[in-house]
Amino acid sequence: EAKARGRNNFQYYDEALTARARLRVNLGNASHTACANKELELYYQPKVDLSSGEIIGAEALLRWRHPELGLLMPDSFIPITEENGTIVEIGDWVIRTAAQTAVDWNSKRLKPLKIAVNLSPRQFKQNDLAKQIEIALTQTSCRAEWLECEITESLLLNDEPGVQTTLQKLRAMGLSVAIDDFGTGHSALAYLSRFPIDVLKIDRSFIAQMGKNDRGTELVKAFTSIADALGMTTVAEGIETNEQAASLNGFGCEIGQGYFFGKPVALHDFNKHFL
Ligand code: C2E
Ligand code: MG
Ligand code: MG
Ligand code: MG
Repeated sequence: EAKARGRNNFQYYDEALTARARLRVNLGNASHTACANKELELYYQPKVDLSSGEIIGAEALLRWRHPELGLLMPDSFIPITEENGTIVEIGDWVIRTAAQTAVDWNSKRLKPLKIAVNLSPRQFKQNDLAKQIEIALTQTSCRAEWLECEITESLLLNDEPGVQTTLQKLRAMGLSVAIDDFGTGHSALAYLSRFPIDVLKIDRSFIAQMGKNDRGTELVKAFTSIADALGMTTVAEGIETNEQAASLNGFGCEIGQGYFFGKPVALHDFNKHFL
């Protein structure tokens, strides 16, 4: 009896695994046409000046409106597109779409809003990324100052010469560069002295610890003063309460993002609620 149950469990496990593997293959295949089929969408989440409460820009966050599976979140498909290389085409679409949005917003504004786009390691390591961005800017008439690139610490760990060159090109063009999820990678702070970085974006896991334990709060304070000493701007992500926003402002953290200010929403809703 136990033996039979064991076999059934195993079979169930096996089927679940197969379903997951099948989904991976399906998404991988479908990712080649997601762009052409207009299934991709950018959501926008406001970024706010913590001292004035004024909106200063947004982060563009990718969504995939899959015809059968519905709205997919990036964590469920970005790794697959990194693996099969479709992230390169998808990433180009993200940059162009964000650039177009920045132009639409800023043509009617005195103080420009900046849009941050996430760049995955594979996308960043293509040798013509800077050129690709330059073309996107020219074709949309977007100013480089209106875009910010968010990269991850892992990209900076192995001193690859191509990464340094691309970062320098992007800075020279006028784009700013932020380190996303700061503090969660295998932080080897030495990279901060080697690479030209404008913004430290403190990971939301640290913000969530604030107020709950002193060590979390002290780490956030320390990150902010490192950034400050190196002439970088600090952004806090994942702000969910007024208390967090107030404390961060007190520590000298300049910019905030999180559900407290607004969740990521479709462009139409962003325009309606935040502009
Ligand atoms: P991220 O760049 O760190 O983006 C922040 C994530 O935190 C977003 O999840 C956002 O919805 C979520 N978030 C924002 N505020 C709060 C908050 O107050 N509380 C909580 N609990 N969560 C909050 P999302 O949209 O699911 O994106 C997940 C990740 O997918 C992003 O993390 C980014 O690494 C990646 N991603 C998103 N769009 C793109 C893209 O266009 N290209 C690439 N390569 N990666 C992307
Ligand atoms: Mg990000
Ligand atoms: Mg982040
Ligand atoms: Mg994060």
